Amino acid sequence: MTSVNAVRGSQAYKGCTEWSSEGLTVQERFADKMSDEKARHDTRLLGDFCALYCRGRHAGRARSPLASPGADLGVYGAVAPVVCDECADLLRYAEQRRALCPKDPKPFCSQCETHCYRPEMRDRMRDVMRYSGPRSILHGHAIDGVRHLLAGRAASRAASAARDKEETR
Ligand SMILES: [Zn+2]
Repeated sequence: MTSVNAVRGSQAYKGCTEWSSEGLTVQERFADKMSDEKARHDTRLLGDFCALYCRGRHAGRARSPLASPGADLGVYGAVAPVVCDECADLLRYAEQRRALCPKDPKPFCSQCETHCYRPEMRDRMRDVMRYSGPRSILHGHAIDGVRHLLAGRAASRAASAARDKEETR
């Protein structure tokens, strides 16, 4: 016999199934992923990169501190990145992508074969990286910027070495 409570429970749960996975709401899952130090670090770096990009490329625009689920969780530290509306959209999108990345360990986004970004957002983020990656070295992100650059290069060398090996087999 099915207990009445179990049925009630499943019905109550049913209302939010489109927003849930493994019994967690998207918000809960987001918060859970963002409690990971690596995810916070990656997201904070993107925030800094976007703020730097926005100041340089979107000079005439109105800017305000990012309002986002990540900012609410304190992912960016005490001060959220100050960006225009377009860059805020990109950052909110990037937060969600980062939090929902199912890969563990997460590969470098630029090396990943899964293109989880929409093409338009991918292009925008690539632009941000190209602009801010090298410049971040002059803006207090020397270690992060260089580390990211080197790790990215190492990953792409490893990838092409693996391809060469495959071809010569
Ligand atoms: Zn901007």
